[in-house]
Amino acid sequence: MKQPSVYLKAGKEKAMSRRHPWIFSGAIDRVEGQPELGGSVSVRTQSGQFLAWAAYSPQSKIRCRVWSWTESRRIDAAHVRELVRAAVAYRHDLGLGAQACRLVHGEADALPGVICDRYGDLLVLQLTSAGAERWRDALVEALQSETGCTRIYERSDVDVREIEGLELRRGWLRGDGATEIEIDEGGVRYWVDVARGQKTGFYLDQRDNRALIRTLAQGREVLNCFCYTGGFSLAAMAGGAKNVLSIDSSAEALNTARQNVAMNGYDETLMHWQEADVFQALRELRNAGRQFELIVLDPPKFAPTIAHAEKAARAYKDINLWGLKLLRPGGLLATFSCSGGISLELLQKIVAGAASDAEVDARILERFQVAPDHPIRMSFPEGEYLKGLLLKRI
Ligand code: SAH
Repeated sequence: MKQPSVYLKAGKEKAMSRRHPWIFSGAIDRVEGQPELGGSVSVRTQSGQFLAWAAYSPQSKIRCRVWSWTESRRIDAAHVRELVRAAVAYRHDLGLGAQACRLVHGEADALPGVICDRYGDLLVLQLTSAGAERWRDALVEALQSETGCTRIYERSDVDVREIEGLELRRGWLRGDGATEIEIDEGGVRYWVDVARGQKTGFYLDQRDNRALIRTLAQGREVLNCFCYTGGFSLAAMAGGAKNVLSIDSSAEALNTARQNVAMNGYDETLMHWQEADVFQALRELRNAGRQFELIVLDPPKFAPTIAHAEKAARAYKDINLWGLKLLRPGGLLATFSCSGGISLELLQKIVAGAASDAEVDARILERFQVAPDHPIRMSFPEGEYLKGLLLKRI
């Protein structure tokens, strides 16, 4: 049977020559054949020249996602296996081996919409595109044989699947048993619940930044906002923090955080947990005259896309303004954004505005980025979502 083909409008092949993996519906001139949900299409210039093999998403504005740039390499189980093997080998070369890490990072690993995180011997798979869903069985097979992991849990329960015309799904794909697992990050142990936790259970993308915070915490009074299960809080304790106040709105996350403290044997009287809205809590801390020597602000994604940037900018400015006011002179502020719609330049501008309004000045000591197991592909700059600044108040 002839494979369905997507013909681009004249001039729209330019992005493809830069190997950007997305084809928006507006770039398409015509579709020949009847591609299925997630089925393969050949992408062609208006005159019919081959450009790539892609998976078809009939309901999404991102109508096609490229899985192969080579005509002789169609999308099939062997190709999926090859890509999974390359992704696993890359993490191995990073020295991550069996450590908790991201094994597959979607477009950056040429597997659009496929996320796979490893926690010990347990893999968590998240499929967010129709093409990823179409190759689900092949992905599970490949992941199992390339890693030797026999337990694979699916967390395809994210809203973006609805845009793709897919149902939300969660449960065991291979193996069974407890969905909670203990991981070790540089000697600090964390409980991860892959079924109920946020994302796939843990914010692996902040691993290297947590390690850096650990080196800065010695003797400091620390405030960790949006602490989730205590990632930065425990890293700071491991680094010798004097005490840590951690705030999050999720009672469930804070429960796990407390378990993490006990598991690591840290002094519970030095670690305080507050279930609260950070926007409110920062003002209350200020009213109470509190001051800190190291503050971490790692909020959720306020701006998933550029369209949300303006509203999000106000939220970022607000927390940074109050964060800076709570910082002692000489204190450190680690401020992050995981919003695709906020660039590092924009974050810096927002924080500079916050500093000016707070009537404080600061130096930039570092710029943070995502850990390298979440690679940023040159041809897919959208993948660069996490950024941050380390500031020292003057
Ligand atoms: N720094 C964490 C990850 C933070 S994720 C780590 O290293 O593991 C963002 C967190 O912000 C989530 O735990 C979420 O529950 C929390 N959150 C979202 N909105 C909030 C708000 N307005 N106030 C307090 N916490 C909030």
